[in-house]
Amino acid sequence: MAANLFSEIEDLKGVGKARGEKYRKLGINSPYELIYHIPRSYLDFRAYVPVVQAALNEYNVLKLTIFRKLPPQRIKGGLVICKAAASDGIDDILIVVYNNVYAFQALKEGGTYYMYGKVTGNFMRKEISAPVYISDEEKVLIQPVYPLTQGLSANMVRTNMRQALELMKNEPFETLPDEILMKYGLCPLMQALENIHFPQSEAASELARQRLSFDELLKLQIGMSLMKSRSRRSTAYKMDKSISIAPFAEGLPFELTDGQKNAVRDIIGDLCREVPMNRLLQGDVGSGKTAAAAAACYFTAKNGVQSALMAPTEILASQHFRTLSEFLEPFGVSVCLLTGSTTAKKKAELREKIAAGDIDVIVGTHAIIQKDVEYKALGLVITDEQHRFGVAQRAALAEKGDAPHKLVMSATPIPRTLALIIYGDLDISAITQLPKGRKPVQTYAVTGKLRHRAFGFVRARLDEGRQAYVVCPMIEDSESDLFAVKSYAENAAQGDLKGYTTALLHGRMKAAEKEKVMKQFRDGEIQVLICTTVVEVGVDVPNAAVMVIENAERFGLSQLHQLRGRVGRGQYESSCILITDNTSDDCVKRMKIMSSTSDGFKISEEDLKMRGPGDFFGSAQHGLPPLKIADIACNMELMNKAQECAKELLESDPTLSLPQHRSLKMDVMRLFNKEIIG
Ligand code: ADP
Ligand code: MG
Repeated sequence: MAANLFSEIEDLKGVGKARGEKYRKLGINSPYELIYHIPRSYLDFRAYVPVVQAALNEYNVLKLTIFRKLPPQRIKGGLVICKAAASDGIDDILIVVYNNVYAFQALKEGGTYYMYGKVTGNFMRKEISAPVYISDEEKVLIQPVYPLTQGLSANMVRTNMRQALELMKNEPFETLPDEILMKYGLCPLMQALENIHFPQSEAASELARQRLSFDELLKLQIGMSLMKSRSRRSTAYKMDKSISIAPFAEGLPFELTDGQKNAVRDIIGDLCREVPMNRLLQGDVGSGKTAAAAAACYFTAKNGVQSALMAPTEILASQHFRTLSEFLEPFGVSVCLLTGSTTAKKKAELREKIAAGDIDVIVGTHAIIQKDVEYKALGLVITDEQHRFGVAQRAALAEKGDAPHKLVMSATPIPRTLALIIYGDLDISAITQLPKGRKPVQTYAVTGKLRHRAFGFVRARLDEGRQAYVVCPMIEDSESDLFAVKSYAENAAQGDLKGYTTALLHGRMKAAEKEKVMKQFRDGEIQVLICTTVVEVGVDVPNAAVMVIENAERFGLSQLHQLRGRVGRGQYESSCILITDNTSDDCVKRMKIMSSTSDGFKISEEDLKMRGPGDFFGSAQHGLPPLKIADIACNMELMNKAQECAKELLESDPTLSLPQHRSLKMDVMRLFNKEIIG
């Protein structure tokens, strides 16, 4: 059968099993997905220079005619070097291709090529090595540069891309109606897809980029709107505002901050309305979001309705369970914990009680949204660290009950432009100050040479009665040279931490073991916790006042900020020591930012700048589909257009069921999880 756009990627000529696998690794399973593999940048072969002008030890574009190909040389280690003598008509140069006989064979004696590669040598004798090239017969001199994977060469991808684009021409498609293209000044989709890969000019590639970015933003908007519109029913749980939370507030071991009080007021105001609450509670790490959530649970319970609080990790879920039990049970509000590792017997028992309404507050991981958990009257749903959950999980929890009120909590502050998309019509309460008496965490970035001194400092703090975290990126030793908690703990016990009680904590331990270690750490029986990033979110042990992060280069800014947020949660002066031997500009910059500010907003903005929105915006951060092309932070105007267009489309056709919208809807479903849109 001849290949078509949606057949397997291996159906393209020249794509065998091996190359197919590489494509699949990149998420490319069909020619259609290949044409959405967007170039990272372009190589402009129009800008070639004469050999004599080539900058040494730099990449240059040359136009060369090959006059003699030399036989391949085999050198030790199985390496093959191929060389050819070439000229630009005035000066000679040697072309050197390492270990790629295939690419070399394609070069013909007498042929003329545009070549891009590193030029080395001296004034007399020059070489261009491992060049990327195109024949001078090639019409398109601006060539795409793709994000590649090992074993997929630029030439292979380009060749396959041409084949895929040919297939596309056999089955023309367009997702937007003509009047929308006209109104927003967009070029047709096929033209955009052709020109994003093989543009004749910068203007052509720019137009293509505009169209494809617009599409992406539009799909994102539509997907989010479709999800939201499913929860716009009125709530069955309008609560009674005459119920007071004063007893709860008085029972707390501290006085709520003004920020917390305002947030609680906002939340209770929402709970007393007919429409379901849809609120984001934002507050930097350590600002005390849990107490605000507890107040909401108290109020809900006193209204005779259940609340559910979902946390992204078991460690955090059980911590919340403890906190909420402590805050709420004295007032006759019952709290339970339900996670993936709750035993089947216990689970069955809890399920029964939850269904009977004998439990007021259900704390857990995503286990609490499973189909077999039925609530008697679920009035309030809270998601902690919401950026850790996929959109699908959030939607599933909201589906439980009769349009429950929803509160999502996050410490990850995001720039306003992104908030608009991610949270759309959510109302926002922000706790902008930390509880009184908190001191900013002193942060130092050092190299491994200073490790012993750093631990001298750690020991001094331990001797004062404080506790510490040491974070490593890996669990077991590997080829990567990265620190792993298991061997690190062994070495530390004999070395830098000899005589101190230490314990291991990582994600591959059983839940009960993790819980036991956390309890001992909380109770002060363990002085140093040597752990992976399992402690990253939410963990709260106020006596822990020192954190050491090994291989700090491995962590992004937001992650470092979250990790560091584990200390500085009590009255003690706290410190964070980042250890890295990495001297890349990027890493040095991150370490500088971490040492100079503890402001989550600033850090998140820098993070966005450094990583680019595609990555920042990816599913790992916010549970949204990763974008391939659109640069939201930098493209507000296009964003606004897409928003306007989405609104228009959905007003005229709320479920996108008209024939002219069908392919757009398919695209939206492809971008999102199908079940969400349904
Ligand atoms: P986060 O906003 O990061 O989730 P938590 O809710 O875990 O923060 O609170 C951090 C710590 O601050 C906890 O130990 C909590 O008991 C304490 N805390 C919360 N509110 C106050 C307050 N108003 N005054 C003093 N300590 C508080
Ligand atoms: Mg928290």
